[in-house]
Amino acid sequence: MKEEHENALKEIYMERFEGLEYDNRTDGDVLRELHEMGYVDEDGNLTEIGVERAKKIIRLHRLAERLLHDVLSASEGEIESSACKFEHVISEEVEQAICTLLGHPDVCPHGREIPPGECCIKGQDEVKSIVLRLSALSPGEEAEIKYLSGNDEIIKKIIALGILPGKKVKVVRVFPAHLIQIDNTQIAIDERMAEIIHVMRA
Ligand SMILES: [Zn+2]
Ligand SMILES: [Zn+2]
Repeated sequence: MKEEHENALKEIYMERFEGLEYDNRTDGDVLRELHEMGYVDEDGNLTEIGVERAKKIIRLHRLAERLLHDVLSASEGEIESSACKFEHVISEEVEQAICTLLGHPDVCPHGREIPPGECCIKGQDEVKSIVLRLSALSPGEEAEIKYLSGNDEIIKKIIALGILPGKKVKVVRVFPAHLIQIDNTQIAIDERMAEIIHVMRA
């Protein structure tokens, strides 16, 4: 499958399932070829294997975005152009290694869902992860907050407490509740919040 086919599948999927609009309609030849390969039906809708394939491409793109954003601190422009190349070349093993390294993230830096892969379903080995949930840290450990992943309501609460990406955080204690320190302020958070705050060890 060529890059243009993969890009077209991705766009059709995002329009259909994520409500995003693209101004450039899929090229007629590309659409016909996708139909011949069984990824879209006569009306240009994704077939079952088309959906699977599209999810895979989107997953790779968004994992690449997370990697570039969280670990490599790449700029917005670099993230977009590199992620678009990455998604066509990452192998299955590399995909799972990156996902594990990142702590099996469920959203990309833009807040869009990353379709889960086999590694995410198998269970989360936090030990090998570079980006992990705050709940995985022990008292005394320091980290940098990378992103928040959960529903809007709880994310708003977390942000209102001054817990923001880019801030350094230290875990003061984890029992009976999580107590963390940011700048000179100690903040008590519940277990659910500690699951939503994703950090990278300092
Ligand atoms: Zn994204
Ligand atoms: Zn995973």
